[in-house]
Amino acid sequence: MKRFEGKVSIITGGGSGLGRAAAKQLASEGAKLVLVDLNMKGLEESKQEILQDIPEATIELVEANVAKEEEVEKYVQFTLDTFGQIDSFFNNAGIEGKQNLTEDYGIEEFQRVVDVNLNGVFYGMKHVLKVMKEQGHGSVVNTASVGGIRGVGNQSGYAASKHGVVGLTKNSGIEYGQFGISVKAIAPGAILTAMVEGSLRQMGGEDWEATGREFVKANPMLRFGKPEEVGYLVAFLLSNQADFINAVVVPIDGGQSYK
Ligand code: NAD
Repeated sequence: MKRFEGKVSIITGGGSGLGRAAAKQLASEGAKLVLVDLNMKGLEESKQEILQDIPEATIELVEANVAKEEEVEKYVQFTLDTFGQIDSFFNNAGIEGKQNLTEDYGIEEFQRVVDVNLNGVFYGMKHVLKVMKEQGHGSVVNTASVGGIRGVGNQSGYAASKHGVVGLTKNSGIEYGQFGISVKAIAPGAILTAMVEGSLRQMGGEDWEATGREFVKANPMLRFGKPEEVGYLVAFLLSNQADFINAVVVPIDGGQSYK
């Protein structure tokens, strides 16, 4: 079943991890993709990986910083100029930031994390939802986190930004449902991507893999999630099959949020 035939999707953070996994899944179902990232090398790798499996895939790359509104406008305008429509949007780029107790958490670090994870998601929705409203259809999935639902600790900037993403999702979902648009968020637990490797290195240094083995013992399923598992969920949520799912957060975490 090809749920995205003739459809156009924008994916931010498309140069790595969850963005790349979602891009693969959407491309396999016929979506034309605009992948956005700060990291052009990562974007090129995503494109090559997808084209190896799906040679007929249509993939455009845009180097942009989601924390700058004018660069968000640039990727939205590029998509319209290239394809004339935006059917779905995976608003996903994010960073974790340094781990620290609240009293030691730097103000600049707090601002840096919020600029990307919260402001970046807001700018994306602001400019994409306007287009979707004119079209009369569309779906948005924002990437929150388990850290946007419950306290994880040592992550003031991340917690504030991801709880904020949940708030933005509920707010916009309520506003835009009447225009045929759904807005939802996903809340991933620990999914083994470059971000989680970075976080394990902060905790365990070079022996981060051993730290990882300890870390996952706290998960009810005793393992990390796989990026492709998130890709399957995002594809479902962005598809027409999930049109009536709106203004909610869907955890994908092996049960960690409810432990
Ligand atoms: P990742 O580091 O593998 O990928 C993130 C991508 O976002 C990178 O390619 C990076 O270059 C890009 N990016 C970062 N800042 C950017 C900016 N300002 N503008 C444009 N692109 C930018 O990480 P990931 O695990 O794939 O994370 C994707 C999203 O999932 C993030 O929002 C993250 O907070 C969230 N998340 C991840 C996990 C997990 O366990 N991996 C858990 C919960 C939430």
